[in-house]
Amino acid sequence: MTRRAELEARLARVEQEIADACAAAGRARDEITLIAVTKTYPAADVALLAGLGVTDVGENRHPEARDKLEELDGLLSAGVARPRMHFVGGLQTNKAGAVARYADVVHSVDRPKLARSLARGAEAAERVLDCLVQVDFGGDDAGRAGVLPEGVDELADLVADAPALRLRGVMTVAPLGEDPEPHFAHLAEIADGLRARHASADMISAGMSGDFAAAVRHGATHLRIGRSILGERPPLQ
Ligand SMILES: *Cc1c(COP(=O)(O)O)cnc(C)c1O
Repeated sequence: MTRRAELEARLARVEQEIADACAAAGRARDEITLIAVTKTYPAADVALLAGLGVTDVGENRHPEARDKLEELDGLLSAGVARPRMHFVGGLQTNKAGAVARYADVVHSVDRPKLARSLARGAEAAERVLDCLVQVDFGGDDAGRAGVLPEGVDELADLVADAPALRLRGVMTVAPLGEDPEPHFAHLAEIADGLRARHASADMISAGMSGDFAAAVRHGATHLRIGRSILGERPPLQ
């Protein structure tokens, strides 16, 4: 089986599961954007996915993301649009300026210093960068990325006030090994509150390979799915 056929089959299965989750939740499929998280996989896979109709991809590391985008331009078939690039990983302040030049959306804004660095980078690149505030629901694995729920408003206001940033909503990674359901419900509440104050904050980024049906039940607009589409990744060193 070619890699293209493999990706096509996996993508079709994920699409079916998303369609089933939407049907069960009484939601329309077109309320939801699938982001294929291509981290650790080559630019050739991104090109194949784009050819299969994937419009949005996610990456979690710089410079892997930048290098892949550069390589991608030479790999896309004629007439296939370059997918939007979502930066979904933890981001060091000193890399924020670089990421602000190529990312279309940054999902992992979790502290004021990072927001300010992204704003400077976007301004220097003469871009307006879409940003999500990453929310941390604690759990036992403390020290993870994200701002605690009580800190969301303050960080969101800072993003919204930066001319080079556009506040688009919230993102979370459900705590490992816990039922994601209450966390996704809480995220939906936070998103509602934020949208009441900032009309542009209409994105809810939640749901990965293991929990996207629950995220669909709780209003997710963007699913970040890696392994189910691309295959298991080798363990991180
Ligand atoms: C890797 C990653 C994903 C995708 O996870 P899978 O389990 O491969 O679907 C989603 N979000 C973030 C932030 C990630 O780092």
